Amino acid sequence: MWPGEAHSLKVKEILFQEKSEYQNVIVFESTTYGKVLVLDGVIQLTERDECAYQEMITHLPLCSIPNPKKVLVIGGGDGGVLREVSRHSSVEQIDICEIDGMVVDVAKRFFPKVAIGFEDPRVNLNIGDGVAFLKNVPEGTYDAIIVDSSDPIGPAQELFEKPFFESVAKALRPGGVVCTQAESIWLHMHIIEEIVSVCRQIFKGSVNYAWTTVPTYPSGVIGFMLCSTEGPAVDFKHPVNPITDSEERPLKFYNTEIHSASFCLPSFAKRVIQME
Ligand code: SAM
Repeated sequence: MWPGEAHSLKVKEILFQEKSEYQNVIVFESTTYGKVLVLDGVIQLTERDECAYQEMITHLPLCSIPNPKKVLVIGGGDGGVLREVSRHSSVEQIDICEIDGMVVDVAKRFFPKVAIGFEDPRVNLNIGDGVAFLKNVPEGTYDAIIVDSSDPIGPAQELFEKPFFESVAKALRPGGVVCTQAESIWLHMHIIEEIVSVCRQIFKGSVNYAWTTVPTYPSGVIGFMLCSTEGPAVDFKHPVNPITDSEERPLKFYNTEIHSASFCLPSFAKRVIQME
């Protein structure tokens, strides 16, 4: 995925290392980022900076529509997105489909402040392939779908392909929204260009790209596709459903200003992504 470069953290202690049915799973204690989850050699999250990713991938879609009730998470086996979805009191049902049960178990054991999301009574955990799960979802079921996937190599490959996006659009209500992990503008413009083109064919509401900073991801940034289906218009850049911060668990990264700012792109990316 990142020829010619590598990102590394100093390892204090390896806490877990096993091969699941789908991927190599490692947890280690780093010297500066807390515990780190690694899947097939790729850093997925660290205790220190996971907030940036989990809060943005969740609140960018959910704060863009009034009153989200039914939410689906594909991937997200660490529970962080669930933790963020559970901040939205309007949400009544949170379904999650994670392919690898070992990720869930490891998250609960080593990342309790992330996996706390699984404790919300609205959460229904399905262990399985998100592609297959969506094939059985009745049309128009969800207000929002969040695709918190690993990279398009290994089990997540199909989550970046047209048939999957078509099944997402079918599972969303009119004016429903999807937010997917959409790689780095510094490293993957070719992948992003392809995803934008596919999304433009499928999502007739709107197609947008936002990005944020996550220091321990390659190039230090990660982006998101934010699309809506035809129906009530969704203006992702101006949130209509602001999240109320909580005393006991304040937001560490997301806020309304950074929500709108995250859609501002550098020229090299704007030319490709906003091309009509
Ligand atoms: N939430 C993390 C973070 O903060 O960056 C990163 C993503 S999460 C660990 C990615 C998850 O997607 C992994 O647990 C992986 O097992 C899961 N996954 C990959 N392919 C999948 C598929 N086809 N269906 C469901 N889950 C999948």
